[in-house]
Amino acid sequence: MKVPFNDLKSQHNSLQPQLGEVIKKVIENASFIHGKEVKLFEEEFAKSAGANHCIATGNGTDSLYIAMQALGVRPGDEVITTAHSWIATSETITQSEGRVVFCDTDGETFTIDPLKIEEKITSRTVGIIPVHLYGQPADMDPIMNIASKHNLWVIEDCAQAHQAKYKNRPVGTIGDIGTFSFYPGKNLGAMGDAGGIVTNNSEYAEWISMYARHGGKGRHIIEGINSRMDEIQGAVLRVKLPNLNLWTKKRQRAAAIYDQYLSQFHHIHIPIIAPNRSHSFHSYVIRSSNRDRLKTHLEKHGIATMINYPTALPLLPAYSRFNYKCSDFPIAHKNQSEILSLPIFPEISEQQQLAVIEAIDSFEN
Ligand SMILES: *Cc1c(COP(=O)(O)O)cnc(C)c1O
Repeated sequence: MKVPFNDLKSQHNSLQPQLGEVIKKVIENASFIHGKEVKLFEEEFAKSAGANHCIATGNGTDSLYIAMQALGVRPGDEVITTAHSWIATSETITQSEGRVVFCDTDGETFTIDPLKIEEKITSRTVGIIPVHLYGQPADMDPIMNIASKHNLWVIEDCAQAHQAKYKNRPVGTIGDIGTFSFYPGKNLGAMGDAGGIVTNNSEYAEWISMYARHGGKGRHIIEGINSRMDEIQGAVLRVKLPNLNLWTKKRQRAAAIYDQYLSQFHHIHIPIIAPNRSHSFHSYVIRSSNRDRLKTHLEKHGIATMINYPTALPLLPAYSRFNYKCSDFPIAHKNQSEILSLPIFPEISEQQQLAVIEAIDSFEN
Protein backbone atom coordinates (compact mmCIF):
# COMPACT_ATOMS: atom_id res chain seq x y z
CA MET A 1 0.00 0.00 0.00
CA LYS A 2 1.22 3.49 -0.86
CA VAL A 3 0.92 6.01 1.97
CA PRO A 4 1.38 9.66 1.00
CA PHE A 5 2.90 12.14 3.45
CA ASN A 6 -0.20 14.35 3.26
CA ASP A 7 -3.42 14.17 1.23
CA LEU A 8 -4.90 17.58 0.50
CA LYS A 9 -6.87 16.17 -2.44
CA SER A 10 -9.02 14.01 -0.21
CA GLN A 11 -9.59 16.93 2.17
CA HIS A 12 -10.70 19.11 -0.76
CA ASN A 13 -12.88 16.37 -2.30
CA SER A 14 -15.12 16.37 0.74
CA LEU A 15 -15.46 20.18 0.63
CA GLN A 16 -15.50 20.54 -3.15
CA PRO A 17 -19.06 21.90 -3.68
CA GLN A 18 -18.66 24.56 -0.97
CA LEU A 19 -15.16 25.57 -2.07
CA GLY A 20 -16.25 25.90 -5.70
CA GLU A 21 -19.22 28.00 -4.70
CA VAL A 22 -17.34 30.52 -2.54
CA ILE A 23 -14.53 30.94 -5.08
CA LYS A 24 -17.13 31.53 -7.81
CA LYS A 25 -18.78 34.17 -5.63
CA VAL A 26 -15.49 36.05 -5.14
CA ILE A 27 -15.01 36.04 -8.93
CA GLU A 28 -18.57 37.24 -9.52
CA ASN A 29 -18.13 40.09 -7.03
CA ALA A 30 -14.70 40.88 -8.51
CA SER A 31 -13.68 41.84 -4.99
CA PHE A 32 -10.24 40.30 -4.61
CA ILE A 33 -8.61 42.43 -1.90
CA HIS A 34 -10.15 44.31 1.08
CA GLY A 35 -13.41 42.40 0.83
CA LYS A 36 -15.78 40.97 3.39
CA GLU A 37 -14.50 37.35 3.33
CA VAL A 38 -11.14 38.28 4.89
CA LYS A 39 -12.84 40.56 7.41
CA LEU A 40 -15.19 37.75 8.46
CA PHE A 41 -12.34 35.23 8.55
CA GLU A 42 -10.43 37.51 10.92
CA GLU A 43 -13.40 37.58 13.30
CA GLU A 44 -14.00 33.84 13.05
CA PHE A 45 -10.35 32.87 13.45
CA ALA A 46 -9.90 35.18 16.48
CA LYS A 47 -12.88 33.49 18.09
CA SER A 48 -11.64 29.96 17.35
CA ALA A 49 -8.14 30.85 18.58
CA GLY A 50 -9.50 32.33 21.81
CA ALA A 51 -7.98 35.74 21.01
CA ASN A 52 -9.51 39.23 21.04
CA HIS A 53 -8.04 40.17 17.66
CA CYS A 54 -6.85 38.52 14.45
CA ILE A 55 -5.24 40.34 11.56
CA ALA A 56 -4.96 38.43 8.29
CA THR A 57 -1.60 38.61 6.51
CA GLY A 58 0.04 37.38 3.33
CA ASN A 59 1.81 34.42 5.00
CA GLY A 60 3.27 33.13 8.25
CA THR A 61 6.70 34.60 7.61
CA ASP A 62 5.25 38.10 7.20
CA SER A 63 3.26 37.50 10.39
CA LEU A 64 6.52 37.08 12.32
CA TYR A 65 8.14 40.12 10.68
CA ILE A 66 5.09 42.32 11.28
CA ALA A 67 4.84 41.18 14.90
CA MET A 68 8.46 42.23 15.45
CA GLN A 69 7.78 45.63 13.86
CA ALA A 70 4.79 46.08 16.18
CA LEU A 71 7.02 45.33 19.17
CA GLY A 72 9.57 47.87 17.96
CA VAL A 73 12.64 45.75 17.19
CA ARG A 74 15.57 48.08 16.42
CA PRO A 75 18.96 47.48 14.79
CA GLY A 76 21.19 45.40 17.05
CA ASP A 77 18.40 44.23 19.34
CA GLU A 78 18.89 40.59 20.33
CA VAL A 79 16.03 38.12 19.97
CA ILE A 80 16.29 34.63 21.47
CA THR A 81 14.74 31.75 19.55
CA THR A 82 14.97 27.99 19.23
CA ALA A 83 17.74 26.13 17.40
CA HIS A 84 15.16 23.74 15.91
CA SER A 85 12.59 25.30 13.56
CA TRP A 86 11.84 26.36 10.03
CA ILE A 87 14.10 29.21 8.91
CA ALA A 88 11.20 31.71 8.79
CA THR A 89 11.44 32.00 12.58
CA SER A 90 15.00 33.27 12.55
CA GLU A 91 15.31 34.98 9.15
CA THR A 92 12.59 37.48 10.14
CA ILE A 93 14.70 38.53 13.15
CA THR A 94 17.53 39.41 10.77
CA GLN A 95 15.05 41.02 8.36
CA SER A 96 14.00 43.24 11.31
CA GLU A 97 17.68 44.20 11.71
CA GLY A 98 17.79 42.33 15.00
CA ARG A 99 20.43 39.80 16.00
CA VAL A 100 19.42 36.14 16.13
CA VAL A 101 20.40 34.39 19.36
CA PHE A 102 19.78 30.65 19.17
CA CYS A 103 18.92 28.53 22.19
CA ASP A 104 18.98 24.71 22.28
CA THR A 105 15.87 22.54 22.67
CA ASP A 106 14.96 20.40 25.67
CA GLY A 107 15.64 16.87 24.46
CA GLU A 108 12.08 15.53 24.67
CA THR A 109 9.67 18.02 23.10
CA PHE A 110 11.75 19.56 20.26
CA THR A 111 10.88 23.01 21.71
CA ILE A 112 13.12 25.68 23.28
CA ASP A 113 14.60 24.68 26.66
CA PRO A 114 13.55 27.32 29.22
CA LEU A 115 16.49 26.30 31.44
CA LYS A 116 18.92 27.49 28.76
CA ILE A 117 17.26 30.83 27.96
CA GLU A 118 18.56 33.00 30.81
CA GLU A 119 22.23 32.37 30.03
CA LYS A 120 21.57 33.89 26.57
CA ILE A 121 20.13 37.15 27.92
CA THR A 122 22.28 40.30 27.64
CA SER A 123 21.55 44.03 28.00
CA ARG A 124 20.58 44.03 24.29
CA THR A 125 17.97 41.26 24.56
CA VAL A 126 14.43 42.46 23.75
CA GLY A 127 12.34 39.35 23.19
CA ILE A 128 11.90 35.59 22.94
CA ILE A 129 10.27 33.63 20.10
CA PRO A 130 9.31 30.11 21.19
CA VAL A 131 8.03 27.83 18.41
CA HIS A 132 5.31 25.28 19.11
CA LEU A 133 7.11 22.87 16.83
CA TYR A 134 5.21 19.96 15.23
CA GLY A 135 2.13 21.12 17.20
CA GLN A 136 3.56 20.65 20.72
CA PRO A 137 3.30 23.83 22.81
CA ALA A 138 6.62 25.08 24.18
CA ASP A 139 6.86 25.25 27.99
CA MET A 140 5.22 28.68 28.24
CA ASP A 141 5.02 29.25 32.04
CA PRO A 142 8.79 29.38 32.65
CA ILE A 143 9.27 31.28 29.37
CA MET A 144 6.74 33.94 30.44
CA ASN A 145 8.35 34.14 33.89
CA ILE A 146 11.79 34.77 32.38
CA ALA A 147 10.27 37.35 30.01
CA SER A 148 8.57 39.28 32.79
CA LYS A 149 11.66 39.13 35.04
CA HIS A 150 13.82 40.64 32.26
CA ASN A 151 11.15 42.85 30.69
CA LEU A 152 11.12 41.01 27.35
CA TRP A 153 8.28 40.50 24.88
CA VAL A 154 7.23 37.04 23.67
CA ILE A 155 6.01 36.13 20.17
CA GLU A 156 4.61 32.61 19.88
CA ASP A 157 5.30 31.05 16.47
CA CYS A 158 2.10 28.99 16.09
CA ALA A 159 2.57 28.13 12.40
CA GLN A 160 2.36 24.39 13.19
CA ALA A 161 0.13 24.50 16.25
CA HIS A 162 -3.41 25.63 15.37
CA GLN A 163 -5.66 24.72 18.32
CA ALA A 164 -2.88 23.36 20.52
CA LYS A 165 -3.21 24.27 24.19
CA TYR A 166 -0.87 24.84 27.12
CA LYS A 167 -2.56 24.35 30.51
CA ASN A 168 -5.87 24.73 28.70
CA ARG A 169 -4.86 28.08 27.20
CA PRO A 170 -4.84 28.29 23.41
CA VAL A 171 -1.40 28.90 21.93
CA GLY A 172 -0.92 32.40 20.56
CA THR A 173 -2.73 34.05 23.49
CA ILE A 174 -0.10 33.40 26.17
CA GLY A 175 2.66 35.67 24.86
CA ASP A 176 2.22 39.23 23.57
CA ILE A 177 1.50 38.17 19.99
CA GLY A 178 0.88 34.83 18.23
CA THR A 179 1.70 34.26 14.57
CA PHE A 180 0.04 31.71 12.30
CA SER A 181 0.61 30.33 8.81
CA PHE A 182 -2.12 29.03 6.54
CA TYR A 183 0.32 27.57 4.00
CA PRO A 184 -1.58 24.75 2.22
CA GLY A 185 0.09 21.94 4.20
CA LYS A 186 -0.46 23.47 7.64
CA ASN A 187 -3.24 22.18 9.94
CA LEU A 188 -5.49 24.92 8.52
CA GLY A 189 -4.34 25.55 4.96
CA ALA A 190 -5.38 27.99 2.25
CA MET A 191 -5.05 27.38 -1.51
CA GLY A 192 -1.92 29.47 -1.72
CA ASP A 193 0.00 31.59 0.76
CA ALA A 194 -1.85 33.13 3.71
CA GLY A 195 -1.15 33.95 7.35
CA GLY A 196 -2.53 35.58 10.46
CA ILE A 197 -1.58 37.32 13.69
CA VAL A 198 -3.51 37.08 16.95
CA THR A 199 -3.22 39.26 20.04
CA ASN A 200 -5.28 40.35 23.02
CA ASN A 201 -3.63 43.78 22.95
CA SER A 202 -5.86 46.19 21.01
CA GLU A 203 -3.07 48.73 20.46
CA TYR A 204 -0.89 46.13 18.77
CA ALA A 205 -3.89 44.93 16.76
CA GLU A 206 -4.66 48.38 15.46
CA TRP A 207 -1.03 49.15 14.62
CA ILE A 208 -0.56 45.78 12.88
CA SER A 209 -3.67 46.15 10.73
CA MET A 210 -2.35 49.52 9.54
CA TYR A 211 1.24 48.37 9.05
CA ALA A 212 0.29 45.28 7.01
CA ARG A 213 -1.80 47.46 4.68
CA HIS A 214 0.63 50.25 3.69
CA GLY A 215 0.17 52.10 6.95
CA GLY A 216 -3.61 52.28 6.79
CA LYS A 217 -6.26 53.29 4.33
CA GLY A 218 -6.63 56.95 3.42
CA ARG A 219 -4.51 58.82 5.93
CA HIS A 220 -1.12 57.12 6.20
CA ILE A 221 0.01 57.75 9.74
CA ILE A 222 2.95 55.38 9.35
CA GLU A 223 4.80 53.71 6.48
CA GLY A 224 3.93 50.05 6.26
CA ILE A 225 4.27 47.06 3.97
CA ASN A 226 1.88 45.15 1.74
CA SER A 227 0.98 41.87 3.41
CA ARG A 228 -2.69 41.22 2.78
CA MET A 229 -4.68 38.02 2.54
CA ASP A 230 -6.53 37.58 -0.77
CA GLU A 231 -10.33 37.32 -0.69
CA ILE A 232 -10.14 33.90 -2.36
CA GLN A 233 -7.92 32.64 0.47
CA GLY A 234 -10.21 34.23 3.05
CA ALA A 235 -13.23 32.50 1.47
CA VAL A 236 -11.44 29.12 1.31
CA LEU A 237 -10.29 29.40 4.92
CA ARG A 238 -13.83 30.27 6.06
CA VAL A 239 -15.08 27.01 4.51
CA LYS A 240 -12.31 25.02 6.18
CA LEU A 241 -12.22 26.65 9.64
CA PRO A 242 -15.41 24.98 10.99
CA ASN A 243 -13.71 21.60 10.35
CA LEU A 244 -10.48 22.45 12.15
CA ASN A 245 -11.62 21.12 15.51
CA LEU A 246 -12.60 17.73 14.06
CA TRP A 247 -9.42 17.62 11.94
CA THR A 248 -7.33 18.27 15.06
CA LYS A 249 -9.10 15.44 16.90
CA LYS A 250 -8.47 13.13 13.95
CA ARG A 251 -4.77 14.01 13.97
CA GLN A 252 -4.66 13.33 17.72
CA ARG A 253 -6.42 10.00 17.23
CA ALA A 254 -4.00 9.01 14.48
CA ALA A 255 -1.10 9.92 16.79
CA ALA A 256 -2.59 7.75 19.55
CA ILE A 257 -2.78 4.80 17.12
CA TYR A 258 0.88 5.25 16.17
CA ASP A 259 1.76 5.52 19.88
CA GLN A 260 -0.07 2.32 20.74
CA TYR A 261 1.80 0.19 18.19
CA LEU A 262 5.13 1.97 17.87
CA SER A 263 5.77 2.13 21.62
CA GLN A 264 6.50 -1.64 21.43
CA PHE A 265 9.39 -1.13 19.02
CA HIS A 266 12.64 -0.59 20.88
CA HIS A 267 14.60 0.64 17.88
CA ILE A 268 12.68 3.92 17.68
CA HIS A 269 11.60 6.69 20.07
CA ILE A 270 8.03 7.92 19.77
CA PRO A 271 7.17 11.58 20.43
CA ILE A 272 5.97 12.48 23.93
CA ILE A 273 3.20 14.86 24.88
CA ALA A 274 4.50 16.92 27.78
CA PRO A 275 2.26 17.32 30.86
CA ASN A 276 -0.55 19.88 30.69
CA ARG A 277 -0.29 20.26 26.94
CA SER A 278 -2.53 19.32 24.06
CA HIS A 279 -0.56 18.55 20.92
CA SER A 280 -2.08 19.38 17.52
CA PHE A 281 0.17 16.89 15.68
CA HIS A 282 1.04 18.88 12.62
CA SER A 283 3.82 16.30 12.48
CA TYR A 284 4.36 12.93 14.15
CA VAL A 285 8.11 12.76 14.58
CA ILE A 286 9.95 9.64 15.69
CA ARG A 287 13.67 9.32 16.39
CA SER A 288 15.93 6.52 15.21
CA SER A 289 19.69 6.12 15.39
CA ASN A 290 19.45 4.52 11.93
CA ARG A 291 17.18 7.21 10.54
CA ASP A 292 18.53 7.36 6.98
CA ARG A 293 18.34 3.59 6.51
CA LEU A 294 14.87 3.53 8.05
CA LYS A 295 13.71 6.30 5.70
CA THR A 296 14.99 4.37 2.65
CA HIS A 297 13.36 1.17 3.94
CA LEU A 298 10.00 2.94 4.32
CA GLU A 299 10.31 4.47 0.85
CA LYS A 300 10.79 0.96 -0.59
CA HIS A 301 7.52 -0.01 1.10
CA GLY A 302 5.69 2.96 -0.43
CA ILE A 303 5.66 5.03 2.77
CA ALA A 304 6.44 8.73 2.27
CA THR A 305 8.32 10.42 5.11
CA MET A 306 10.03 13.77 5.62
CA ILE A 307 12.86 15.19 7.71
CA ASN A 308 11.80 18.40 9.44
CA TYR A 309 14.51 19.63 9.42
CA PRO A 310 17.76 18.02 8.24
CA THR A 311 19.99 20.72 9.75
CA ALA A 312 19.50 22.65 12.99
CA LEU A 313 19.10 26.37 12.26
CA PRO A 314 22.41 27.58 13.78
CA LEU A 315 24.34 25.00 11.74
CA LEU A 316 22.89 26.08 8.38
CA PRO A 317 25.19 27.79 5.86
CA ALA A 318 22.91 30.84 6.27
CA TYR A 319 24.36 31.29 9.78
CA SER A 320 27.99 30.47 9.07
CA ARG A 321 28.79 34.07 10.13
CA PHE A 322 28.29 33.01 13.76
CA ASN A 323 30.86 30.17 13.50
CA TYR A 324 28.84 27.86 15.72
CA LYS A 325 30.05 24.39 16.63
CA CYS A 326 27.73 21.38 16.75
CA SER A 327 28.48 21.13 20.48
CA ASP A 328 26.94 24.59 21.02
CA PHE A 329 23.51 23.01 20.41
CA PRO A 330 23.94 19.36 21.47
CA ILE A 331 20.24 18.41 21.50
CA ALA A 332 19.23 20.09 18.23
CA HIS A 333 22.38 18.74 16.61
CA LYS A 334 21.74 15.17 17.78
CA ASN A 335 18.09 15.33 16.70
CA GLN A 336 18.84 16.51 13.18
CA SER A 337 20.25 13.09 12.30
CA GLU A 338 17.58 11.06 14.16
CA ILE A 339 14.22 12.72 13.42
CA LEU A 340 11.76 11.31 10.91
CA SER A 341 8.25 12.66 10.27
CA LEU A 342 5.71 9.91 9.53
CA PRO A 343 2.57 10.46 7.43
CA ILE A 344 -0.15 12.14 9.52
CA PHE A 345 -3.20 14.02 8.27
CA PRO A 346 -6.86 14.05 9.33
CA GLU A 347 -7.95 11.70 6.53
CA ILE A 348 -5.29 9.03 7.11
CA SER A 349 -6.98 5.63 7.39
CA GLU A 350 -6.23 2.97 9.97
CA GLN A 351 -5.14 0.69 7.09
CA GLN A 352 -2.65 3.30 5.93
CA GLN A 353 -1.33 3.63 9.48
CA LEU A 354 -1.04 -0.14 9.82
CA ALA A 355 0.98 -0.20 6.61
CA VAL A 356 3.36 2.36 8.11
CA ILE A 357 3.59 0.39 11.36
CA GLU A 358 4.22 -2.92 9.56
CA ALA A 359 6.91 -1.36 7.42
CA ILE A 360 8.66 -0.02 10.53
CA ASP A 361 8.28 -3.45 12.18
CA SER A 362 9.98 -5.15 9.23
CA PHE A 363 13.02 -2.85 9.45
CA GLU A 364 16.16 -4.61 10.54
CA ASN A 365 17.88 -2.12 12.74
C1 LIG B 1 5.38 27.35 7.93
C2 LIG B 1 6.14 28.02 9.03
C3 LIG B 1 6.39 29.41 9.04
C4 LIG B 1 6.17 30.30 7.86
O1 LIG B 1 4.92 30.28 7.30
P1 LIG B 1 4.73 30.64 5.73
O2 LIG B 1 3.25 30.82 5.65
O3 LIG B 1 5.22 29.48 4.94
O4 LIG B 1 5.47 31.89 5.47
C5 LIG B 1 6.98 29.96 10.17
N1 LIG B 1 7.34 29.20 11.21
C6 LIG B 1 7.15 27.86 11.23
C7 LIG B 1 7.55 27.09 12.43
C8 LIG B 1 6.55 27.23 10.14
O5 LIG B 1 6.37 25.90 10.16
